[in-house]
Amino acid sequence: MQTRGTLYRLLRDRFREAHVPTPELDARILVAAALGIEPGALLLSQDFAVSDDAAALATRYGERRLSGAPVGRILGQREFFGLGLELSSGTLEPRPDTEILVEAVLARSVDRALRLADLGTGTGAILLALLAHLPQAQGLAVDLSMDALATARRNAVRHGLSDRVLFLCGDYAAALAGGLDVIVSNPPYISHPELAVLAPEVALHDPVLALDGGVDGLDAYRRIVPEAADLLVQGGLLALEIGAAQGASVGGLLRHHHFQGVEILRDLAGLDRVVLGWKRHDNQV
Ligand code: GLN
Repeated sequence: MQTRGTLYRLLRDRFREAHVPTPELDARILVAAALGIEPGALLLSQDFAVSDDAAALATRYGERRLSGAPVGRILGQREFFGLGLELSSGTLEPRPDTEILVEAVLARSVDRALRLADLGTGTGAILLALLAHLPQAQGLAVDLSMDALATARRNAVRHGLSDRVLFLCGDYAAALAGGLDVIVSNPPYISHPELAVLAPEVALHDPVLALDGGVDGLDAYRRIVPEAADLLVQGGLLALEIGAAQGASVGGLLRHHHFQGVEILRDLAGLDRVVLGWKRHDNQV
């Protein structure tokens, strides 16, 4: 008889043999999903019998993982900052690294009627995580992709946040009027040389619109930073995810557009991951 434990170990061992980077974690998430239980519950119920249907489903998930599909794509969803988020073909899969950006903004915000904008919202991950922790704030979710916006909207509804979000189809901040307190974005930042050698797990599964940052990877920042300088209130916060080699360039761009207190924050791997700065007050030079 197949038990939860034997099914888990079967997938785990096949992932180990195939050098999947996190075999235990991936096997736990996929088997739990096939059983319809929380990953944490799996280890506490290893001796429970498994139905043939659930075992077949877990095996199918395992095959897809072995053929290179990321776990989030197999399940069509993943966790970000404690929120379960649906993915679609028009959205980047949210990464744990981006949680650094959310934490940085939360640490610098007081909960009042803040007006936030997320440029290139994708699944809505950054904006929804912020709104979940800032109950008085409201947000604009902007994306060029209607598919992404529909997904972000479903995610907002799922977490009871949709009455505080306005969804706009547009090119970065082109459709926005001013008066914003916080602008966040994880824009496409992969340079063309890097795009050519991306890991297949990224290249085959994340939309190129959410990855392609132009020849040097900085095209989006050249658009967003001056737009943010126009649209933020004085003292407003701009926080951007960046690629590991882009801290100096993007930080310089913020300073060039008169942002103050520019900081570069690192992710858990010690790599530069977020640049943030404050829109200057007019009376300061
Ligand atoms: N985090 C993605 C990666 O490193 C890139 C996301 C982006 O371009 N914004 O593959």
